[in-house]
Amino acid sequence: MRAVGLHADVVVTVSRAYQTTCTLVRSGNEAFCVDSPVFADELEVLPAIAEQAAFAVVGLLATHADWDHLLGRYAFAEAPLGCAETTAAFLVGHPGVAQRELRAFDDELYVERPGPLSIGSPPTQALPVPGHCGIGEQELELHPADGHTGDGMAVWVPWARVLVAGDYLSPVEIPLLSETGSASAYLATLARLEPLVARAEHVVPGHGGPIDGTRAAAILREDRAYVEALMERGAEAKLPLARRTGAQRKLHAANAERVA
Ligand SMILES: [Zn+2]
Repeated sequence: MRAVGLHADVVVTVSRAYQTTCTLVRSGNEAFCVDSPVFADELEVLPAIAEQAAFAVVGLLATHADWDHLLGRYAFAEAPLGCAETTAAFLVGHPGVAQRELRAFDDELYVERPGPLSIGSPPTQALPVPGHCGIGEQELELHPADGHTGDGMAVWVPWARVLVAGDYLSPVEIPLLSETGSASAYLATLARLEPLVARAEHVVPGHGGPIDGTRAAAILREDRAYVEALMERGAEAKLPLARRTGAQRKLHAANAERVA
């Protein structure tokens, strides 16, 4: 697993699975762990990475309810999980979904875990979004980020000018409309993220990266063009130039079915 320091108070790890990112953010003697690595050995080493950087992790945040972003509890068993109200509502309304999908991934790749995934204890904290979340002496800004799924938030770290985008602005994955996603909501989220990207030193997409603000702005334009084309032409829409692998074409086919 790769670990990159973006700022004295921001460290990002990139998982070997789907290049899933996990962002450690600190203010004073409090740190949060946003999203999570995927493999068991990566989660096992995460506390040591945090400790080495003198990040005392007191809480978990999840950008959205997809299983691959919810595994922080394996690294920080005592830390409460904070997420957008929309995400908390999804987790309450769909108990066991994340666990089931994690189990399918683990079965496929023969991954062994120390135990089943616990999300609900200690209880999940629903955060009002848009809103703020106190950390140390400072505050994180929380922005609604739905469209990929029906729930979610992006996290802006003002003093580091880092945007943790959730599953948007990925250099490796095309915009993905999951079962609960929506193309028009996706476009609205891109519009909401645009001014943050313009101010960002670094952007941390859910998968791939981190990238600088200029590259993220270029990806945002490509993603907007792709989603607009998807709404107009469905399967005929062209994929972003650098994201045309077989796997991305499969995701595109699923997107086209979703908007049809
Ligand atoms: Zn996702």
